[in-house]
Amino acid sequence: MSMRIGLGWDSHAFKPGVPLKIGGLAIDHSEGLAGHSDGDVLLHAITDALLGAVSAGDIGSFFPPGDARWKDADSSIFLNVALEEIQNAGYRIVNVDTTLVLAAPKIGPIASDMRDRVAELLHLKPSDVGIKAKTPEGLNADHVAQAHAVVLIEKIEDELGLLSKADVEEMQNQLENLITEAHGTRPRRIPIRKAIYDTDDIT
Ligand code: MG
Repeated sequence: MSMRIGLGWDSHAFKPGVPLKIGGLAIDHSEGLAGHSDGDVLLHAITDALLGAVSAGDIGSFFPPGDARWKDADSSIFLNVALEEIQNAGYRIVNVDTTLVLAAPKIGPIASDMRDRVAELLHLKPSDVGIKAKTPEGLNADHVAQAHAVVLIEKIEDELGLLSKADVEEMQNQLENLITEAHGTRPRRIPIRKAIYDTDDIT
C-alpha cells in the first residue's frame, strides 16, 4: 500500500479586538490571532501538512499574503484547496494529529469540540483527528499561538485493489503484442481505460 506523510507548522501573534478562531472553531477570548486571513493557526498548519504530503508546495504559494482576495478569508477555503490536491493525486487521509502551543485560552475544555470541527472540515471521523495542546514553557512566547500538524495519506487505488492507468496500459500493450504475434496483424484497440475510469463512484 502506498502511503505518504506530511508535516505542517504555523504561528500567529495574539491581537486585541480580533475574533479568535482555531481549528475552524469560534472561541470566546479577549484576543484573536493577527493575520492576513482569519489567522486560524491550526487550519494553516494542517493545510501545509496536506500540501506537503503530496509535494504540492505550501500555503503561501497557493494563497500569497499580499493578495487582497485572502484578506480576512475563512481558512477552510485554504484547507479545501489542499484537500483537492490530495484527491487529485489519488490519495485519501488516514489520520491527522496536531499539537497547539499557546498560553491561553485553555484548549482542554474545548478540545473535543475542536476535534469534531476539524474532522468535519476534513471529512473524517473524529477518531481520526488528534488535538493536543501545551503551554509554551520556557519559550517566552505567551502572546503567540503555534500549531504543529502531521498527516498520513494512502493511495486510493491500492486500497481498493484497482490497477493504475499505467498498469492497464502496460497490460493492453502486452495483449496487443501477443495477438499481433499470433495473427500477424495488430488488433483494434479496445477502450479499456474509459470503461474502467469513467465513473463517479470509484469508492
Ligand atoms: Mg498562518
